Formats: sequence, C-alpha cells, structure tokens
Amino acid sequence: MISQNLHKIKEQLLAITKKCGRNPEEIRVVAVSKRFPVSAIQEAIRSGQALFGENYIQEAQLKIAAFDKDIDFHFIGHLQSNKAKIAAQLFTMIETIDSEKLAISLNKHLEKLDKSLNILIQVNTGLDGKKNGVTPANAEDLLKKISGLSQLRVKGLMTMPPWTSNAEDARPYFRDLRLLGDDLKKKNLFFDNNSIELSMGMSQDFHIAIEEGATLIRVGTAIFGQRMKI
Ligand SMILES: *Cc1c(COP(=O)(O)O)cnc(C)c1O
Repeated sequence: MISQNLHKIKEQLLAITKKCGRNPEEIRVVAVSKRFPVSAIQEAIRSGQALFGENYIQEAQLKIAAFDKDIDFHFIGHLQSNKAKIAAQLFTMIETIDSEKLAISLNKHLEKLDKSLNILIQVNTGLDGKKNGVTPANAEDLLKKISGLSQLRVKGLMTMPPWTSNAEDARPYFRDLRLLGDDLKKKNLFFDNNSIELSMGMSQDFHIAIEEGATLIRVGTAIFGQRMKI
C-alpha cells in the first residue's frame, strides 16, 4: 500500500509540475512517519523514499536508531529548548525554528558536536493562535538575529496554514510564504540566497503548495494511511 501511495504521489507531482511549468526535481517529498512504526518507514525505503519527517523527539529517537545515515529525517514538530541537544544529533534539518532562544540553544549543542545543521524558520502565515511560528512581520528580525550563528544554515521557510477542509483556502498562505521568502532573499538573509527552501503543503493541499512554489512537501496520511489517535 505504502509503495502504491508513494508511486501515486510521484505521479501527481509530475502532473502538477508539468501543468505549472516547474521542474519536478526542485520538489522533495518529506514522508511524515509520525506515529507509524519502523516497519512502515522500511517499506517506504524499499520503494525509494529516503527522506522522512518526525514530530516527536522521543518517538523519533527510538525510530531513527534503526536506520543508516543515508536516510534523512527532518524534524517538523514543535521543538523545546530542553530537547535541542537530541534534535541536534538526530536530524538533518529542523524545519520549525521560531525563536532566537531556541536557535541559540541548538547552536550551542551543534558547536559541541562540531556539526552544521540546515534549518527552516517556521512562519505562522495565518496568524493562527493554535499554531507555532514567528509572525511574518517578525521573520526578518529573527533571521537577522540568528543568521550569524556559526552552526546554523538557514535554508528557507516553513508554514502550516490554519486548518480548513477546502485545500484551495490554503493558497493565500502558501503564496504569502513565497513572497516573504522573495523579500528576505533580496536582503541576503539566508544561507544560500539563490535558492531557498519553502516547506509547505500536506496530504490534502500539496498540489496547491507546489503551484505556489513549495520545494518540500510534507506528506503523511496520503503515504502511510490514517494515523492512530493518541
Ligand atoms: C502531521 C504533519 C504533516 C502531515 O500531515 P498529513 O495530513 O498526514 O499529510 C505535515 N506537516 C506537519 C508539521 C505535521 O505535523
């Protein structure tokens, strides 16, 4: 099932990029494996998937230990400073940095590990009280404060729009993220201002996110099926 689902998503990705004139190689699928067992991740790996997303540090710690270094895990959950040390060790990207305090704490642990880490700034484009992330208005300030930290490579932006049952409703938030990225690129605030990452779009709306410029889509349910409630 996982294999068929991945195949279907790759086909959709090709069809959408063709329609909107984008290069499909610019877009990577982050297979969101939270609350799915190691066996599900292994099945996805057998189908060629090598990039996964996890939300919970303790769960990720147990699962990631089972995999070789060539499998990439992105952290996409809310990171607390007291978990920054473990996160620094486990992940190849942390997509959810939204405060200077967190960035400083992460940088400190990375210095000790002598490791550089790719990060994204999580932006609360919908100004949604239930979501984490810096407000669009404060993104520039945060970037200025953390772009000098030695071990962090700020590669781009991530967003999660307010929940809605209609995928099309997410479009303005995806567009806002892209425009914010364009603005901050011009100010040279990223690690590589020629190409930045935009992580946006989930199972129900990744097609819209691709049309609006996503370079990372975070897809869980459409690959692994319905998650167990906890
Ligand atoms: C769970 C999660 C996803 C995946 O959501 P699906 O609807 O299952 O595709 C994507 N991004 C974040 C931040 C998540 O927490």
